[in-house]
Amino acid sequence: MKIEMVPAIESESAEDQTKVMRLKVTGPIDPADAVLRRARELVQRTGSTSMGSPLNGRSLRVPSFLRSDCSLTQAVAPTSPRELIAHARSLLKRAYAPYSHFPVAAVVVDAQGRVFEGVNVENASYGLTICAERVAIFSAIAAGATGLSSLAVTAQKLKPVTPCGACRQVIAEFLSAEAQVHSDGGGDAIVTWSVGELLPHAFEPRVSVETALASAAE
Ligand SMILES: [Zn+2]
Repeated sequence: MKIEMVPAIESESAEDQTKVMRLKVTGPIDPADAVLRRARELVQRTGSTSMGSPLNGRSLRVPSFLRSDCSLTQAVAPTSPRELIAHARSLLKRAYAPYSHFPVAAVVVDAQGRVFEGVNVENASYGLTICAERVAIFSAIAAGATGLSSLAVTAQKLKPVTPCGACRQVIAEFLSAEAQVHSDGGGDAIVTWSVGELLPHAFEPRVSVETALASAAE
């Protein structure tokens, strides 16, 4: 995440340009960022997204998503299926598949818009092999991610590839039944299923990720 102050008004005059500044946030939102938290508190105190004279006579506009009635996670622009597939494709070269010669890569997105990566990792003892989808999800969980919202998967030699049965059960553990799983259909084509379509009647009950993390923290 990057936060910068940029001129809010397009003007030829350098003086005009610095009169009104705007807070510009790019990249996935990090709710823990101190600057963002201060800006949010400021907006919540004043109830305005345009504050006069906080900066030596200049005024500052802040993004409307910092309003108190809007959660920071709502501000995250959803990553498009096409972007996710492109990201996954870029990981294929990292797959460790010397036995099957079947490279697979996957990415999963959390509530903050962070993207976690995975590739298949094989082993001489074949049964120890782990799929790209599970590597991506486990990486996300290990990083403290919650609210996993969508997953994309691609294989070099099969388009579209679908997650195996074991991965479907793991996906159903951390993504909702309505969450989307995208697969690379080759060329520009993308195939999308819901988690519920991939694994109807998934093994349950389960606890939510948030509940599990909260009880672990107690
Ligand atoms: Zn799998």
